Amino acid sequence: MNGGGQPASKQSMRRHNLALVLRQVAAGGSASRAAVAARVGLTKATVSSLVEELRLAGLVVEHVPENQGRVGRPGGALALNPQGAAGVGVEVNVDYTAVCVTDLTGAPRVRLTERAGNRSRDAAETLHSAGRLAARAITAARRAGLSPVQVTLGVPGLVHDDKVLHAPNLDWRHVPAADLLGRGLGRQRPPVSVDNEANLAAIGEFQARPAGAGASFLYISGEIGIGAGLMVDGTLFRGGGFAGEIGHVTVTPDGPECGCGARGCLERYAGQDALLEAAELDTVSATRLGSAPAPVPAAATRPGATRRQAVQEAPADAGAPVERLAALAADGDEAAVRALAVAGRALGVALSGAVNLLDPPEVVIGGIYARLAPWLVPSLQVQLHERVTSGRWRSDRLQVSGLGTEAAVLGAAGAGVQAILRDPSAYIDVTGPAV
Ligand SMILES: [Zn+2]
Repeated sequence: MNGGGQPASKQSMRRHNLALVLRQVAAGGSASRAAVAARVGLTKATVSSLVEELRLAGLVVEHVPENQGRVGRPGGALALNPQGAAGVGVEVNVDYTAVCVTDLTGAPRVRLTERAGNRSRDAAETLHSAGRLAARAITAARRAGLSPVQVTLGVPGLVHDDKVLHAPNLDWRHVPAADLLGRGLGRQRPPVSVDNEANLAAIGEFQARPAGAGASFLYISGEIGIGAGLMVDGTLFRGGGFAGEIGHVTVTPDGPECGCGARGCLERYAGQDALLEAAELDTVSATRLGSAPAPVPAAATRPGATRRQAVQEAPADAGAPVERLAALAADGDEAAVRALAVAGRALGVALSGAVNLLDPPEVVIGGIYARLAPWLVPSLQVQLHERVTSGRWRSDRLQVSGLGTEAAVLGAAGAGVQAILRDPSAYIDVTGPAV
């Protein structure tokens, strides 16, 4: 189905109006056709025909009251269809691979996490295995009645044109990531796009914000590397394509060498490996260096895990080393507490530079920093109060993400959904009506 034969202006009008109506349904929470018409300023007849097109494509459902037949003036409540199109997010990080499928409402429906030593494997092997994990998630989603339409891969590195130019902590250079992941996905696969992990985490954070929350913030993603995403009025600022590499902002010009080739980068003080090393823990097993191996504690319930209909098919233990560090800090372990205070200070030095330059209304710390916030934030706030010029820093401008290390994979899955919500006509014209 398409707008074939219609003049260009009519097609672009249809495209615009379909997106307008779908956005109202997404935002409106059970509005009727008449209510949507009143909000968007179109006639009821026009809105009714657009709603019918969205309904037939499986994007919208209409809950008709029992005492009202399907014939006549429809007064049912409109909502996004939780059984229709879905987005697939894949996150390949240094020590885990995660996959999430979210439906049109943004609810995670399938999650798979695999602990993997990705830094010791080559890129093709890692991406093939990530593709296989994603294929399993897609099969589970299809069984649940969903139609995955887009796979978005997040990687901690510099990404251009769906290729990874450099991911220092994975030791990847010039990796055709979309192609390699696609091979693991197998046949009947949705298209794959690739983005930087911190960019996707910032998008995930934005999507999870309650209505009315600010749409401009600086998001900091703590993992083995450290990335940032600058959200400006709900749009990610990408600079020339590589904005957000805050992990390689210099904290000490003659400090320790960094994987990027420079010295004294923030990552060498506040990245996960640096933190574990400073706390005298092994970076892989998180056991105390020079002592007998300690049992790795079970991962705590991860934020967002209680959201409805999530099918968790694998244990979410990706944060195990960080859990060990947090447990030690909670017990008052001197090395752990000191390591976190030093990392918080380094973060504060780097972040105050970013705040002085950009003046974002809020700074959100996420990834592993969400779990470690109780021990990082005090020294971080001291630096922000001291270094943000004009003394205008307020402590409540610093927020802790509720999504933790899941923000990137949720943002990646949400990216596919957002593309449909932005331009439903592109989806409808490719797939045709669902019924
Ligand atoms: Zn560096």
